[in-house]
Amino acid sequence: ESRDIIQKFHEELEGVGYDKEVQVVKTGCFGFCEKGPIVKIHPDHVFYVEVKPQDIKEIVEEHVVKGRIVDRLLYKEPSNEKKIQEQENISFYHKQLRIALRNCGFINPEDIQEYIAEGGYLALGKVLTQMTPEEVIGIVKDSGLRGRGGGGFPTGYKWELTYRNKNDLKFIICNADEGDPGAFMDRSILEGDPHSVLEAMAIAGYAIGAEKGYIYIRAEYPLAIHRLNIAINQATEYGFLGEKIFDSSFNFDIELKYGAGAFVCGEETALINSVEGGRGEPNAKPPFPAESGLWDKPTCVNNVETFANIPQIILKGPKWFNGIGTEKSKGTKVFALAGKVNNVGLVEVPMGITLREIIYDIGGGIRENHKFKAVQTGGPSGGCIPEDYLDTPIDYETLKDIGSMMGSGGMIVMDENDCMINIAKFYLEFTEDESCGKCTPCRIGNKRLHEILVRISNGKGTEDDLKNLKTLGKIIKDSSLCGLGQSSPNPILSTMEYFPEEYHEHIFNKI
Ligand code: SF4
Repeated sequence: ESRDIIQKFHEELEGVGYDKEVQVVKTGCFGFCEKGPIVKIHPDHVFYVEVKPQDIKEIVEEHVVKGRIVDRLLYKEPSNEKKIQEQENISFYHKQLRIALRNCGFINPEDIQEYIAEGGYLALGKVLTQMTPEEVIGIVKDSGLRGRGGGGFPTGYKWELTYRNKNDLKFIICNADEGDPGAFMDRSILEGDPHSVLEAMAIAGYAIGAEKGYIYIRAEYPLAIHRLNIAINQATEYGFLGEKIFDSSFNFDIELKYGAGAFVCGEETALINSVEGGRGEPNAKPPFPAESGLWDKPTCVNNVETFANIPQIILKGPKWFNGIGTEKSKGTKVFALAGKVNNVGLVEVPMGITLREIIYDIGGGIRENHKFKAVQTGGPSGGCIPEDYLDTPIDYETLKDIGSMMGSGGMIVMDENDCMINIAKFYLEFTEDESCGKCTPCRIGNKRLHEILVRISNGKGTEDDLKNLKTLGKIIKDSSLCGLGQSSPNPILSTMEYFPEEYHEHIFNKI
């Protein structure tokens, strides 16, 4: 539909003789998926929602030619029915702070000049002409940035560890193997602002002493791949990738590697095995990739969102970034907000915001005025958080304390009609399917957990089954080799803790 809208704009603008004066720019995601397709008119700052190809004639004739706003296409706030003209005044955007998504929905991702016009590649220039690798690492450390892929490991320390491992050959890898069901944070960044990731990878390469970077991206992301290829070619043509960048002695190039949709390949050692052409199975750590990674060389793996923050941190300084967020979690986090919420979309919020603010102020509350029941954060292995914790300021630590995790940023809202045992079963089936099978607790343990859950949800469970779920879940968490197995029982353990009555109902009432 968006392609038809673009085509229609070209036709209608030509029809009124404005095709030279008015530019039609194709951007990345605005984040407000619920109200797409969206058309934004510059410089008027008018934000039209749920636009259809048949609306374009009116937009051109009324707005473009006569300067009259097409009222019926403006967003209407559900709380007071007020029509809103500007994007920043819409409640969905009020509490958001866009750092990683700063250019998404704003620039044409297929035109490097638009990225440059927004300060693109200035950070790389600053680093290569004014800073030593140690200074770059110091800035990233001082910023407090932590890995956005799920682990939350401090990025600057990861860079420092890789920097300290001396070797003629080192590598940077960007993990773009986003596999959580319902998650599209990394895809949107790559589709909307690919140069920010390329620039950050080159900065990381300079900092740790690597001249080669790989982006490991899901083959199921064709638009992101297409735009990355355009971006790599343009950056090379403009001298931001390749040899002697900014007339320095630093060389850096980037190659894409395609993943085949295995969730476990998001784990860094499995990803490295896959890039090498082997099976995508995790290895025991240590050694960590910083010491012995791709082809046994020191390797720094960061995810897309982590990289997207780097150019701004270099340009605005560590204090600016450090001033956003909570004591231990700095900056912002991108979430894919989905499920039974009114405003499904991609949101970027400062760490420390509450779940209630995300779900009600940004997300517009629960669909059809139903009652909130739980929110699951952290993707398929995250926990389900009940209403009692909606006012908890969220960061890496608090989410862990309440039985869930930050993960890469999936956030699914459930209402009063959702059965928590079915939810736990759905996620367990996903992790069971995606288990690589290398270690027994995850391979066999999750199968046994699933059998028990099916028994309970069929009204055939016993009290012993409840005890076994808990014991086995804890064993799997403690003894699995990688994060997939270590977190796979979270949906069961959290629903058992917060919604015990639903388990009891199935067991004692045999439903
Ligand atoms: Fe494979 Fe699961 Fe073991 Fe990870 S925990 S290595 S996914 S079997």
